[in-house]
Amino acid sequence: MKALVLHGKGDVRAESVPDPTPQDAHSALVKVERAAICGSDLHLYHGDVPAAPGLVVGHEFVGEVMEVGSEVTNIRTGDHVMVSGVIGCGQCKRCLNGEVVRCERKQTRVFGMAPELPGGQAEAVAVPGAEHAIRRIPEGVSVEQAVLLTDILPTGYFGARNADIEPGETVVVIGAGPVGLLALLSAQLFGPARVLVVDRIPERLALAAELGGIPVSAEHADSVIAEMTNEQGADRIIEAVGSDATILKAIEWVRAAGTVSVVGVNTSPAVPFPMIHALMKDLTFRVGLVPVPELWSALIPLVACGRLQPERVFTHRMGLSEGAEAYRRFNAREDGILKVLLDPSR
Ligand SMILES: [Zn+2]
Ligand SMILES: [Zn+2]
Repeated sequence: MKALVLHGKGDVRAESVPDPTPQDAHSALVKVERAAICGSDLHLYHGDVPAAPGLVVGHEFVGEVMEVGSEVTNIRTGDHVMVSGVIGCGQCKRCLNGEVVRCERKQTRVFGMAPELPGGQAEAVAVPGAEHAIRRIPEGVSVEQAVLLTDILPTGYFGARNADIEPGETVVVIGAGPVGLLALLSAQLFGPARVLVVDRIPERLALAAELGGIPVSAEHADSVIAEMTNEQGADRIIEAVGSDATILKAIEWVRAAGTVSVVGVNTSPAVPFPMIHALMKDLTFRVGLVPVPELWSALIPLVACGRLQPERVFTHRMGLSEGAEAYRRFNAREDGILKVLLDPSR
């Protein structure tokens, strides 16, 4: 089959690889209909996360079930399904509850990050623990929305849920990339009075404004946040960039007894953490990897009923065969690119 393969830093190619084969009775084979490129794929592309050459990348994909193991009862051949980008063993108590990041057998894995779980920027994927990693795409949810339900919409929602937002509060989202924008939409579900969105890129700030946020240019953010909160700081901060600098800004911008919720991916083993400020602020600081299947029960109805319309984040639609160019443009942030959807049939 055709797949996007990482050969090294800045080198992703569309090429032929062996067809995937389901491993056991708990697995399924999914023919990919659409896949997306994620900001966290760029960590591999940049070489920040070590990867063996030859890795099939991608963890955001939906498709049609081609084969299903005898132990998998919730899906059938021919179903159109979404697949959680992160999975666990699929059989322990935590995994059965969708909490795949807390897998008791410590088998939490992300598709397309290691050779033992090849990714979804491909024509097909073998999905282990399919019963808990896969959900049929219900009526009212489009294919593009389903792709976002495999990772970044749950990630944005997880960031908002972890921020402890109460009605009437002021929330700051740092980063107006796809995850930040979906954190903005998710934060609005919890009833804040206003959500400020901080970024450097004007097009992204414009989209944040269209989606109901108050755009704040990063260069003025210190003074704008201070002014808007009477020098008290924002009640809640959702950090959706993942750089050391933005994590430090989150701690600086939050009010006393406020919450910082980090969903930006920072792969550093040691971020400088201003303990004294955290201590003096009585800070709540949360960071975690999203338990995608656990959040589907909230998010699928919100999307199906139109309360959440996450598909606005897709700006580019390309063929899988154009994968090398898609990565190059996404990495270079060319041409207002925000989120790329890939079609494996072209
Ligand atoms: Zn992702
Ligand atoms: Zn498990």
